Amino acid sequence: MEKTILGLDIGGTKIEAAIFINGRVSTRARIPTKRELGHQSVIERIKDHIIKTLASVGKTLNDCQGIGVGLPGTIDPLTSVMINGNSEIFINRNFSQDLKSILNSNIEVRCANDANLFALAEVHRGAGLKFQEETGLSPSQQIGVGIILGTGNGGGLIINGEAYIGRHGGGAEVGHHVLYQNGRPCYCGRLGCAEQYLCGPSIEASYKEQTGESLMATEVFKKSSEEAITIQKQYQKDLIEFLTNLCTLFDPDYFVLGGGISTIDKIYEGLEEKLWSQVFVKGTRPKVYQHQIGDSAGVLGAAMLFKEHMN
Ligand SMILES: [Zn+2]
Repeated sequence: MEKTILGLDIGGTKIEAAIFINGRVSTRARIPTKRELGHQSVIERIKDHIIKTLASVGKTLNDCQGIGVGLPGTIDPLTSVMINGNSEIFINRNFSQDLKSILNSNIEVRCANDANLFALAEVHRGAGLKFQEETGLSPSQQIGVGIILGTGNGGGLIINGEAYIGRHGGGAEVGHHVLYQNGRPCYCGRLGCAEQYLCGPSIEASYKEQTGESLMATEVFKKSSEEAITIQKQYQKDLIEFLTNLCTLFDPDYFVLGGGISTIDKIYEGLEEKLWSQVFVKGTRPKVYQHQIGDSAGVLGAAMLFKEHMN
């Protein structure tokens, strides 16, 4: 029997849906999130997007074994409620219940943190395979850390092939450890969280502060003005501090970076050597990979929540 899983990746700016048939992607399609329109509007548009994406490959909900969803926040594994995150419209809501109710369907919906899903997809089908080529260790023998550098800054820790989510779903929420005491305010209530220095909007804010101009983060990295170079260097320094802290906590085989900022080649220049020079366990050389799967890792990870149907 043909096995059909729908993967949904819900980000701060875009929502992607993909259909996987027998574990292989059949189609992918994106819409803007438009979270400013509020929860009801977003969830209705998600419903339309699901129906249309299924229809584009001649399927309906009834053909589907399940919907896997990546959400930009901490998902309580017991209640499925999103406890925290930078997309307020989903906080304190049970997304799987909301989705089933608007779809008027009993289809099984499994939700997880998007950074965990990115990490899961990369370890099993992306960076993990590259690491396997280099070392002979299979994904189920690896410790990999996925880091999203995008609208926000999330992390996923994969140990021996499985995501470590902690007791309440907040394991490896690495964007909220403090890099600068009394630093920039974070929506989580603390000051100086890593997210406030490593996400795209933080680069844009720094550039605006320095020059008065608004510029996309990726564009800031293309500029060679004194202000831009200072911001680029500071960004890499902050990223190395951040990764070094994570080495102290997790001692991983490798990091894999995803999200818009991870596509900027400049951030990788000399990055590993600098990291290796300051890790606590001297002589260890954790690799830092750019994402290998591309921007479809989120939907793939979401579909992998139904791994029993992904072979
Ligand atoms: Zn924070």
